[in-house]
Amino acid sequence: MRAKRYKDLTGMVFSRLTVISPVGQTSNGGMIWRCMCECGMETDVRSSNLVQGVSTSCGCKRSEVMSIRAKVRNITRNRRKSRRWNSTPYDDVQEFLNS
Ligand SMILES: [Zn+2]
Repeated sequence: MRAKRYKDLTGMVFSRLTVISPVGQTSNGGMIWRCMCECGMETDVRSSNLVQGVSTSCGCKRSEVMSIRAKVRNITRNRRKSRRWNSTPYDDVQEFLNS
């Protein structure tokens, strides 16, 4: 088990997301939090993404953000980024919860 040294974000609000509870930990030590979006959807977000403002909604805002980024960056880089958005390390979380 890793030492549970992480910043407790429970109850904090990041744009459209309100942190409800910790879900688990990624393999590289980052925390994952269950968040409630303003639209009513729940989503799991890494603390680094919350703190750095990378994730500001469950995804309902993603299309807005992506369209803006697409104008700045080229399409290839944008697509690679969107793949990373969808690859939440759930296996690592399950492993953490079962250990
Ligand atoms: Zn939403």
